[in-house]
Amino acid sequence: MIRKLISRVFGAKPATSPRSPRGGNDAAAVIPVKNHGVRREQLSSGARRTVEGLQKAGYKAYVVGGAVRDLLAGIPPKDFDVATNATPEQVRACFRRSRIIGRRFQIVHVMMGAETLEVTTFRAIHADDAPTDEHGRVLRDNVFGSMAEDAERRDFTVNALYYDPADETIHDYHHGVADLKQKTLRMIGDPKVRYREDPVRMLRAVRLGAKLGLAIDPTARRPIREMSELIENVPPARLFDEMLKLLTSGYAVRCVKQLREEGLHHGLLPLLDVILEQPLGERFVMLALANTDERVQAGKPTSPGFLFATLLWHEVLGQWEKIKAKGERPIPALFAAMDEVLDVQAEKLAITRRIAGDIKDIWALQPRFEARSGKRPYALLEQPRFKAGYDFLLLRAASGEVPQELADWWRNFLNSDGDARQTLLLPPPKDEAKKRRRRRKKPANGAPAADA
Ligand code: ATP
Ligand code: MG
Repeated sequence: MIRKLISRVFGAKPATSPRSPRGGNDAAAVIPVKNHGVRREQLSSGARRTVEGLQKAGYKAYVVGGAVRDLLAGIPPKDFDVATNATPEQVRACFRRSRIIGRRFQIVHVMMGAETLEVTTFRAIHADDAPTDEHGRVLRDNVFGSMAEDAERRDFTVNALYYDPADETIHDYHHGVADLKQKTLRMIGDPKVRYREDPVRMLRAVRLGAKLGLAIDPTARRPIREMSELIENVPPARLFDEMLKLLTSGYAVRCVKQLREEGLHHGLLPLLDVILEQPLGERFVMLALANTDERVQAGKPTSPGFLFATLLWHEVLGQWEKIKAKGERPIPALFAAMDEVLDVQAEKLAITRRIAGDIKDIWALQPRFEARSGKRPYALLEQPRFKAGYDFLLLRAASGEVPQELADWWRNFLNSDGDARQTLLLPPPKDEAKKRRRRRKKPANGAPAADA
C-alpha cells in the first residue's frame, strides 16, 4: 500500500501529481541570499551535515519550517527540521546513526553528535476523502507528496519556507518571506477549513503570533472565536504538548493575554478558564508565567511540573477549603484536593504521570513552610524538591496569597548558616508546646522555649 503511494508520488513528475485541493502553487519563488540574508553558518552543524548527506546521495533536502522562519526573524531556532524527497528507508540508509520512528507517518531521527535532527519525507495534503472525526478533524494525512504539496499542507505561509544550504536560497511557495517582513501571520488556504481539519492550528496561530510579534491576518483571526469549541475534540496528549509549547515559548504572558482576547481560554483550556477569572489566581498565574518567560529567555531550564503546579494551584486552594469545611483535617484535605484537581485535568490534558508526581511534590511541600520552629525547617531543606517548593512559595507571597514576611523569613533562613540560622527559629506554637509537655509528663513551667 505504502509502496504503491511512494511509487505514485516519487515515480511521477511533479506535474502529474494529483492537483492540490487548494489549487496551490506548484512553483516556488527562489529567493537568493542577498535578498534574505540567512547564511549557511547560521544552521547547526548537524542540520548542514544532514542536508549535505542527503543531497550527496542524490535526494532533494532542505531545512524547513520553524527554523527558517526564526532565522529570518532574527530569533535563534529551537531545533532544525529537514524535509526531503527520500523515503524514510532511503534516509535511514544515508546515516549510520539514525532510526525510523512513528507508525502512522514515519519520520527519521538522525543523530549528529549531540544533536537529533528530524527528517521528514515530503508529505501531500490529505485527499478530500481522508478520514475525519465527526467534527471534520483530519485523522490521517500520511501520503507522501511533492515538495509543492508539502508546502501546501503546512499551516502558515511563514512556515512553508525551505532553505537550501548548498546555494543559500529560500524556496518560498506562499509568499512567506514577504508576510514575515510585513509582520503578518497568514494561513495557507481557507482558515476555516484548516481549523476544522486541525483545531490546534488556532493555538499555533496565537503562539506564533506572540513569539514572532506578528499580527494574525484578519481572515485567520476572525473565525477563531466561533470555532474555539473545536479544541475540545483534540486528543488530550496533543493538547498538553501544545500547551506546554505555548507556556514554555518564552512568550507565555503574551500568549495567554492573546488567548483571552481571542476567546480561546474558555472551556477549551481548562487550566486557564477558571483561574484567570479570580483576581488572586490571575495575579499568581501571570507572575508565574512572567517568571518562566524570564527563565526561558535567559536560556535557563524550566520544569513542566512547576509550571502546571502554578497553573492549578488556585484550583487546589479552592478545593482544599471546601474539603476542610466538611470537617477534614488540613493535611489529608490538601491531599484529597490535589488528587481531585489532577483527576479533572487529566481528562482534558494528558498530564503524564511523572509530571503529575512533580506537581504533587511541590504542592505537598507548601504547608510545611508554615513550620518555622524546631527541627522542621531543617528537615524541609533536605527535601529533594525543596528549591522548587521554595520558588513556588516566593510566587505565592508575591501574589499576596501568603504574607511576604513568610517568604522573607525563608530567604533569610536559607542565606544564613550555623548559629545565625538557629536564632531565626521561632518559638514552637503554643498547642504544640503543650502537647510536648504532656508527652514528657512534666508540669507546665514558664514560657515555652525555642526548640534546639
Ligand atoms: P516551534 O518549533 O517554534 O515550536 P514550529 O513552527 O517549528 O514552531 P513545529 O511543531 O516544530 O512548529 O512544526 C514544524 C513545522 O511543521 C511547522 O513550521 C509547520 O510547517 C508544520 N506544522 C506543524 N504543525 C502543523 C499543523 N498543525 N498543521 C500544519 N502544519 C504544521
Ligand atoms: Mg520546530
